[in-house]
Amino acid sequence: MYVRSDWKKASQFHDLSEREVLKEVYRRVAQCSAHQQVPVVLLDLDSTLYEVGPRTHQILREWLDTAEARAFPNIRSELARLEQEHVGYSLRDTFSALGVAAPEQELQQALSVIKTFWQARFFSNDYLKYDRAYEGAAEFVQEVHGMGAFVVYLTGRDEPGMGAGTRSMLIRDRFPWATERTHLLLKAAYGLSDLEHKVNASSFIRKTGELVASFENEPANLVAIYEQFPQAMHVFVETVSSDHAAPAAMGLYRICGFR
Ligand SMILES: [Mg+2]
Repeated sequence: MYVRSDWKKASQFHDLSEREVLKEVYRRVAQCSAHQQVPVVLLDLDSTLYEVGPRTHQILREWLDTAEARAFPNIRSELARLEQEHVGYSLRDTFSALGVAAPEQELQQALSVIKTFWQARFFSNDYLKYDRAYEGAAEFVQEVHGMGAFVVYLTGRDEPGMGAGTRSMLIRDRFPWATERTHLLLKAAYGLSDLEHKVNASSFIRKTGELVASFENEPANLVAIYEQFPQAMHVFVETVSSDHAAPAAMGLYRICGFR
């Protein structure tokens, strides 16, 4: 099992440009339709179609104005410098990118307090409006959908906390939604495992059609889908990812965006 850059080194990716990867997806969608099958394209949302850094940035800015933030004057003045480009996958990553200097104990305490504040907002409908679709992402999904693909959004977001906001953002950002051949698979509850949820999606995919391609920023999820559908293209979207370990895989694709 490998983490982040080690996983990228241990895995093997086709030597194709972003443009070539996306063209190959179009080619396979067309080919699948020509064989009278329903081509399925599977898309993760957070950090795959959507940049979520602005969501975290907004939440951290709000935290600075709270009474509890005043208990951490050093951290608070450091965080006041926070720009969107500092925001990483985790709060720890964000603190490192910002170069927050504070004694370890104070840092630990602050991180724990901020994490509670952050979690209550990050995983909620109200803050999804701060997300930004990556450039070209909506156009790409519109294109494959227009070619006849069945678009499945598979996300670790949960229905009770984030379902309504997710649907309205798909519409705001012009992703195919509320139309034929679209489906959204959310977790039924917040506490469920993302990985299990994504593996369980395979029964929906199999009864819908033929999986042509999956897109995901999280190595463990990408490899889990790859193992279920080895004949499909599995595209690693190289934005940010967690430090969860994943097995290496061969024959993957990778892109940094959809431009
Ligand atoms: Mg993701």
